[in-house]
Amino acid sequence: MAVPRRKTSKSAKRKRRTHFKLNPKGLSECSNCGQLKLPHQVCESCGQYNGRDVLEVVE
Ligand SMILES: [Zn+2]
Repeated sequence: MAVPRRKTSKSAKRKRRTHFKLNPKGLSECSNCGQLKLPHQVCESCGQYNGRDVLEVVE
């Protein structure tokens, strides 16, 4: 099995991991307005779900 010739340095490892980013657990972005919302639930801010208007939004 191929084995790396050198250990990955701390700085190389950290540079690679700058691209890793988790979004907050249990939240996803609304595809319509981009607000954070609970997945599989109507967006509170624009009242849409799956591209359809589901809720009347009171302003
Ligand atoms: Zn929305």
